[in-house]
Amino acid sequence: MAETLFDMSAMGRPRILILGGTTEARQLAERLAGYRRYDAAISLAGRTADPRPQPLPTRIGGFGGAEGLAVFLELEKVSLLVDATHPFAARMSHNAATAAAATGVPLLGLRRPAWEAQPGDRWTRVASVAEAVSALGAAPRRVFLAIGRQEVFHFEKAPQHSYVVRSVDPVTPPLNLPETTAILAHGPFAEADELELLGKHAIDVIVAKNSGGTATYGKVAAARKLGLEVVMVERHKPAEVPTVCTCDEALERIHQRLSPVKDRGV
Ligand code: NAP
Repeated sequence: MAETLFDMSAMGRPRILILGGTTEARQLAERLAGYRRYDAAISLAGRTADPRPQPLPTRIGGFGGAEGLAVFLELEKVSLLVDATHPFAARMSHNAATAAAATGVPLLGLRRPAWEAQPGDRWTRVASVAEAVSALGAAPRRVFLAIGRQEVFHFEKAPQHSYVVRSVDPVTPPLNLPETTAILAHGPFAEADELELLGKHAIDVIVAKNSGGTATYGKVAAARKLGLEVVMVERHKPAEVPTVCTCDEALERIHQRLSPVKDRGV
């Protein structure tokens, strides 16, 4: 291979590839950047127009399915693959499991736990964004779509509602809906700010993905305070791979797997 993502001067050190796109992936990248005994890099899908710089060598764009990823893992001699993609990035996670099984490269999932409904929450649980559209019902409502931009097109099937759509980058192509307000913003989103947003736009229902974590929980807590319904899109069942919930746990597993010595230096 003419060019490698990894550090050529670090030959012999175990290579770790993080599949990223989440806060947890960035946190793990920051931690791994401090270890000279590993040669780590991160891969992003390239969905965000202006991604924040990463603390590790970074590649951007798809691999070409599970087969492409398998080829990449072999050519780059990756020792360990960490799937730290978003809980709703189901295809990438499936590809990671398939490629890891095909190549024998160990795979570790890093996935924050889903949110659990608390007393006072009014959740309508659905299995997909398409199902969320039906769950809004026939009568016009004021809907806050907090599901990112990739799947909001489904709501074109329900033009009777008015929508506030929040995303990091603009929705493309623009939504074919009569009443839409676009908000471009990057989390984390505090509960107080979410309360203000919900009030300002007189929202009566929120559509959210059960992403877990704290960065986007503010809207769920705010909905509880206001007694608003949340149409909650639940996660697909993930592939059965060893999975941890936190960056600390991931690091511990990486040490166990790649340098099972008592020394915990860098
Ligand atoms: P997806 O549907 O599971 O993946 C679609 C394709 O995008 C994959 O098959 C792969 O292409 C490519 N891809 C995804 N993640 C990649 C990565 N980290 N590195 C290289 N290629 C990647 O995923 P998605 O829902 O489009 O999400 C894309 C990215 O955005 C993920 O990295 C995810 O962590 C992040 N994200 C997603 C959501 C969400 O709600 N879905 C929310 C926040 C962040 P090839 O098949 O060609 O390899």
